[in-house]
Amino acid sequence: MQINLAYLYPGLLNIYGDRGNVLAFAKRCFWRDIKVKIYEIELADKIDPELYDFYFIGGGQDQQQIAVSEELQKQKSFFTEAAENKAVFLAICGGYQLLGHYYKPHKGDELRGISILDAYTVAGHSRYIGNVTIETKLLSQPSNTLVGFENHSGLTYLEPGTEPIGKIITGNGNNGEDKLEGAHKQNVFGTYLHGSFLPKNPHFTDYLIRLCLERRYGQVELTEIDNKLEWAAHKKAVKRKY
Ligand code: GLN
Repeated sequence: MQINLAYLYPGLLNIYGDRGNVLAFAKRCFWRDIKVKIYEIELADKIDPELYDFYFIGGGQDQQQIAVSEELQKQKSFFTEAAENKAVFLAICGGYQLLGHYYKPHKGDELRGISILDAYTVAGHSRYIGNVTIETKLLSQPSNTLVGFENHSGLTYLEPGTEPIGKIITGNGNNGEDKLEGAHKQNVFGTYLHGSFLPKNPHFTDYLIRLCLERRYGQVELTEIDNKLEWAAHKKAVKRKY
């Protein structure tokens, strides 16, 4: 089996180590003899919605978000088609904000998003920086917690039709008010959790791998792999105070 991974705009959205998500995803596939072909997509590269199973977009500063927002608009129809065809998206922070309807920074114009998540973001007056633990309904075994590190000033609000990824246990999450973190709709997931996110959440990584494989090959069972190190890191992160 093979997963085609589109790594979106790594030359621009790349300052929070979010590349670690692509490495963790690919490694957990490699350990199971699942091939992963990684396509690094830069500005003006055409998006082929038939080709890619998994789209990853990381976080970045407002400046880089402007360039990516403009590019996403040019290819919005392809991303929409991909999401409707149940391609899996994982978007972190700045990338997450651009999968919603818009991100309104403090200065300058509103950055339009591609609306594959019913959410919108406005600039906040303080920066949320710290360790985050959430409780998710998406997973139960072997844990329903997800951990990461947030660093954003944007405040994201979910509209009907889009669920959070989980509820805040420690940290601020989407906006520091409604105790929600992240967003998901069908196979599109956005989160504020850097860290990077997937290495310390092996159960969520495997969940995404299964979604990618099932859309192309039908029901799959992933072989068990040794997660001792990942769970040790997860448990240590859960104990971290904000
Ligand atoms: N510039 C956006 C914000 O501060 C996103 C930052 C990020 O990707 N960490 O909210």
